[in-house]
Amino acid sequence: MIELSKEDREYIKRNSGTTIARTIIDHISVLEKDYGHEIKKDIMKGMDEIGYNLDIFNIKPGDNIPVSHYMAFFVVKKELFNLDEEGVKDIGRKIARISFLLKFTSRLFVSLEMVAKNANSAWRKYYEKGDIRITEADSEKRRLVIELDNFVGHPLHCKHLEGYLEQIVFFVVGKKVLCTEEECLFRDGSFHRYILTWD
Ligand SMILES: [Zn+2]
Repeated sequence: MIELSKEDREYIKRNSGTTIARTIIDHISVLEKDYGHEIKKDIMKGMDEIGYNLDIFNIKPGDNIPVSHYMAFFVVKKELFNLDEEGVKDIGRKIARISFLLKFTSRLFVSLEMVAKNANSAWRKYYEKGDIRITEADSEKRRLVIELDNFVGHPLHCKHLEGYLEQIVFFVVGKKVLCTEEECLFRDGSFHRYILTWD
């Protein structure tokens, strides 16, 4: 039986707006590779137990689902598969591989400037709310700063984004990338700020 902590319940409740079901569907296809094809049932049961039921078997990638359900899914995922922060981040990387490779056949066509320019519209394809600002994109200094504003999320989602962004920027710069969330809404910040650096 999965139970939400008081903290998690508060965090999840603070979210508004929708996301597309692709976010969860991509997770499931990554998780199925490691944990087998029976996981959908368990996820659905877990979501139900914490009061965020979702018909995992019938959702379509383009369906709109509440962001709060997606954040509840992060808690269920962590509990079911016993994930630590690095585990959550690694799933983020794997999901970025799927979404990037769907969109671009080769990273050779994508520049850092292009990523910076399209970041907010890419976000909007997934989430109704939240704004992405690129405050620094410097290939010389090998540094990219991404801010996510007007979006609550959940600490596990913040970790997930670290991995996701790390992988996307890896595809673009072709070097090992490190992403750390320097400022966060859950650590007294006024938004989420990610710093990416590479070799
Ligand atoms: Zn954060």
